[in-house]
Amino acid sequence: MIDLEPQISVDLKELAEQFNCAADYISLENAILGHVLSGNRLSNEAALFLWRHGNFRNMGNAAFQVRNQKHDANEVSYTAFRVVNYTNYCNIECSFCSFMDEVGSGKGYTLSIDEILKKIAEAIKFDSPQLFLQGGVNPDLPFDWYLNTLRAIRKEYPDLHIRAFSPVEALYLEKITGLTLAEVFTSLKEAGMNSFPGAGAEILTDRMRDILSPKKSSTSEWVRAMQTAQMSGLPGSSNIVWGSEETDEEIIEHLHVLRSLQDTTGGVLSFVPWTFQAQTKKFRIRKVPSHEYLRMVALARLYFDNIDHIEISIMVAGKQLGELGLFWGGDDINSPVIEENVLRSFGLKSVQEAEKFIHDSGFVPVRRNFNFERGKKSLV
Ligand code: SF4
Repeated sequence: MIDLEPQISVDLKELAEQFNCAADYISLENAILGHVLSGNRLSNEAALFLWRHGNFRNMGNAAFQVRNQKHDANEVSYTAFRVVNYTNYCNIECSFCSFMDEVGSGKGYTLSIDEILKKIAEAIKFDSPQLFLQGGVNPDLPFDWYLNTLRAIRKEYPDLHIRAFSPVEALYLEKITGLTLAEVFTSLKEAGMNSFPGAGAEILTDRMRDILSPKKSSTSEWVRAMQTAQMSGLPGSSNIVWGSEETDEEIIEHLHVLRSLQDTTGGVLSFVPWTFQAQTKKFRIRKVPSHEYLRMVALARLYFDNIDHIEISIMVAGKQLGELGLFWGGDDINSPVIEENVLRSFGLKSVQEAEKFIHDSGFVPVRRNFNFERGKKSLV
């Protein structure tokens, strides 16, 4: 049972007793980083201390060491895939989303199976034989639409890795079919789906979810969907999207939920730090400064002893900050992406660009697929 509302606070005296050191910032930071570098798990309280008071360069040094204990110090992996946004009709109305059109407005679109197949063919031409099928929650699409689309793609492309949909869609499918969530995932898997993204996590506390998207799944529902998918043999990624009104405690709560999920399922392949992008006037964001982005990358590497990969999204961080992220604990970049409508993109646009970027950053590029199998581009 995952504790979804852990009480997390920092008491310097208590932490100092725990780490057997003086109750000042420098002694505590040294003791906590040394504790992690010796292979111990970072507690929520120690994580909150680092997030608030840790020196981001020292955190980066420690995270780089942990990254190099887990992975070849010279290598950075990357993958290539095509995002196909199959519909932009959505009835969830997240406050930060500029992608959706209101259901019934007549302004949006839903792609036909032929249009989706054509987009996959283009991706294969660009040496990107993996698919990320993403869309809104469109009440006009019955469960058969999902199954038939997956089957048609699988028939045409037997080796294509299909990562698809999101927790909020899976929960919607559970509702409209009357099937159990496990049955929904089993059917999607049988129709051709290979993995399931940890999309729509944003910040996993109910207070923040009420602010960001009250109609989206609660934290417990999001966790139930991810847990069921991963227990059904559909692994996936995880992320955080921050830079709005979240508190420090909520950041650590979010990380805690993901680490606990991974303790339960072992199905979380990677973690990607994302920041909110300016998209709508309805939603106020703050500009996350570079040192805070890097602090998050380092904290993630130090905190997630059970998640192998920390991905740097060049699309979100940009090239300059992304490059630094590889020295703050990241071991992978998740560009290039052929199409991405939900975010304004300034990512890498081709495999050649990705390899050059990694090379220029001082590492050897290694291609991997969605499952992090090195040297593979798709399922085989
Ligand atoms: S972010 Fe996704 S779920 Fe939210 S409104 Fe946009 S399309 Fe819908």
